[in-house]
Amino acid sequence: MSAYAPRDTFRFFKVRLMGCVAAVLAQLCLSLFSLTLLPSAQATPLTLQSLHQPVPGGVAIVPLPSASRTPPKVTFLQKPVLVVAGQEQRWVAVVGLPLDIAVQTQVLIVTEQKTSTEIKFEVKDKKYREQRITVSNSRHVNPLADDMTRITRELELQNAAYRQFSPNTPSNILLDPPVKGPLSSPFGLKRFFNGEPRAPHSGLDFAVPTGTPVVAPAAGKVILTGDYFFNGNTVFLDHGQGLITMYCHLSVIDVKMGDTLARGQVLGKVGATGRVTGAHLHWNVSLNDARVDPAIFIGQFKP
Ligand SMILES: [Zn+2]
Repeated sequence: MSAYAPRDTFRFFKVRLMGCVAAVLAQLCLSLFSLTLLPSAQATPLTLQSLHQPVPGGVAIVPLPSASRTPPKVTFLQKPVLVVAGQEQRWVAVVGLPLDIAVQTQVLIVTEQKTSTEIKFEVKDKKYREQRITVSNSRHVNPLADDMTRITRELELQNAAYRQFSPNTPSNILLDPPVKGPLSSPFGLKRFFNGEPRAPHSGLDFAVPTGTPVVAPAAGKVILTGDYFFNGNTVFLDHGQGLITMYCHLSVIDVKMGDTLARGQVLGKVGATGRVTGAHLHWNVSLNDARVDPAIFIGQFKP
């Protein structure tokens, strides 16, 4: 949603309509959390390279030429990018690709010892399906003027959470699923609410009942919680270097702003708050302020 400027209220509204926006950020202490790329317990073995899905709404894994001990600074679309240690001590950029990115050659800016170089990579096309949803509360499709004031304020808070970039390295990038249960609506669906086109689905839904515990998929810090018009009870986690995850429609929030969570720690319980058609967990994953397909991080990506 980085592409949607906060000043444009209608665009905000459309973004909010994506159904769910919330984020919990986790600031991790480098001294406490070493970078590990272990696969999540239940999934087929994942590797850093398995995250490379260079499509709109995907992730690009881009090897960097640097051989220095300290990671280079990398930016994409003028936003700082996650850099981790890959194989043979080479640095690798983990780049989030927004859904509205152009399908063409894209450029990273890599800065080291005051010298900047360009690294190019290719973005390939991906087709996303349509979804038609009937929402009984018409205010959740066409909010009233008073609702718009609230929606705009809430969106600014959530957009600010996504823009955070703390220096610590994530405890793990191959994430644990936040709940155990079947996937339902995938990321990127082109959505119509009561027949009206709205912004595409910004996250991944799990079909799990109210009360199901939701766990942190990596160590993280709670950077935002709230009860939002569309997203209901919501938690944002900061895992470090712009890797931000969000959980919404919760029945209960079990954490508060500033809490530091261990990987696997419960942050809340599944519910049906906000704009929903029934209980489920909506999960967003964001890199460099780009919402990307969470399925990539749990070995469930469908090309
Ligand atoms: Zn959803």
